[in-house]
Amino acid sequence: MRCYVCNKEIVDNPTKADECKAHGEHIIHNGIRGKLISKTILCEKCGGAYSKEDSAFCKIFDPFMAALNDRLIPADHGKDTEKVLKGSLFDTPTANPEDPSRSVTIKKGTVAPIEPYYEIDGGKITLYAEKHRINQYEQVVSKQLAKEGKDITNYAVEKVTDIHDKGYLAYYFSKDNATFNQDFKNGMVKIATEFALDCGIPREQLTSVITINPDGTACIDNTNTKVIPFIPTTVFDCLFEDYRYALEEGYPSHTLKLFSTKYDNGTAVLYCYIDLFSTFQYYVVLNEDYKGEEVSKMYAQRLIPRTKEKPDLTQCDPSDLDIVIREYDIDMSQCTATSYEGQLDYVKDCLRKYPLQTYDLQKALNRASDKINMLVTAYFSRLLPFAGKGASQIFAKAAGFDTIPPSVEAILESFTEKVGVSDIMLLSQAFSASVEGQYYRKFGFEVVDGDVMNYSQPDESMKVFDKSRAAAQEYTNAKFSHLSCLCYNPELIEQ
Ligand SMILES: [Zn+2]
Repeated sequence: MRCYVCNKEIVDNPTKADECKAHGEHIIHNGIRGKLISKTILCEKCGGAYSKEDSAFCKIFDPFMAALNDRLIPADHGKDTEKVLKGSLFDTPTANPEDPSRSVTIKKGTVAPIEPYYEIDGGKITLYAEKHRINQYEQVVSKQLAKEGKDITNYAVEKVTDIHDKGYLAYYFSKDNATFNQDFKNGMVKIATEFALDCGIPREQLTSVITINPDGTACIDNTNTKVIPFIPTTVFDCLFEDYRYALEEGYPSHTLKLFSTKYDNGTAVLYCYIDLFSTFQYYVVLNEDYKGEEVSKMYAQRLIPRTKEKPDLTQCDPSDLDIVIREYDIDMSQCTATSYEGQLDYVKDCLRKYPLQTYDLQKALNRASDKINMLVTAYFSRLLPFAGKGASQIFAKAAGFDTIPPSVEAILESFTEKVGVSDIMLLSQAFSASVEGQYYRKFGFEVVDGDVMNYSQPDESMKVFDKSRAAAQEYTNAKFSHLSCLCYNPELIEQ
């Protein structure tokens, strides 16, 4: 195995000039809790040369990492320093950046106003300020009120140092970062490149991302690399992404998919789809004239462990054990013990080795597809004269909702202009196809004139992006606010 940069043979203890030292390269950055490590693509020295670029990329996600920190799986190395972030608090979740907002700092999940303020409601004054300023601010307000002939001691004073529930938080994500676009592209292209290399694609086949020098050394060159934002276009994707935090078990996750698509003219394109935090979704074009074998490889991981802690089995009885076995997908066929105690020991041992990031994406997608099918059935059954509202509610409940959420209605309404009640079985087929491992994010499936048709999803995303930047922006904003919600108002979305 050779390092893709210096082209030397990767060994544990290099002794010769054409050997380099092995290193565990995090394909998704360690700083954002990536857990996919390759020891066969990049040497220690060349890996180290990327560290500045890597940390610039990870810094982009600081707002999320800082807020989620306690809930996340641990990093493989490095310490988390306490980060103070900046953001704005808006009155509505759909506010525009130009709308009036309050500038805030965010530290360890606590949101405080940069400019302190107060509100009077009858006999009560509420002061809002950063913790270290609030007592001093009380004096300021006291003086101010005195000028107006009011005495602060006549009021009940409440001091609030965390205003996360006073509006809708928007972080300074790209704001104040002049190199945001380049840092972001560098990171995304590096992930895509290294995932392809780890999947066994030779660097010569990564023409859109790697430049090989005459002396055999190489570097990632993303000057002309196409990075296409994913935009949902099928009913399945629109519904899934709109309620992904409720529909995806394991949200937020990191997903990678390497795949090739053959076109009618005989050419093939090699893509890597990257989905970070179930939110940042892009296709990186790795080769626009791909000559290698057809490929379809997927990687997915959790960021928040399924349960906060591994289950305590000290007071366990056989039925509890069955639940744990199912919950953690423990393979009992490898267990030789026949007694309950023996099985318990086996399960304990499996749990000890159980990595917290383990994520069965296919299973999660299938379950999401089932729930979406229920929602669609709930929607259509209401339109049927013999079923009505009761049936609709039963289906909505089965999908995990009390009733059909309004945004789901809106999506389905716009789609049912094209699809009728009689097509409901076809829609269901389209959903199931959308989540199949070999098709997921490669093809979109749509019901057209009574048939399930597919189209290339990266191409369709590009078309939408070119046609309507505003729609693309709206989608990105919505995804953003879902993740922000998980960060600061998890009770709203945790089921
Ligand atoms: Zn190297």
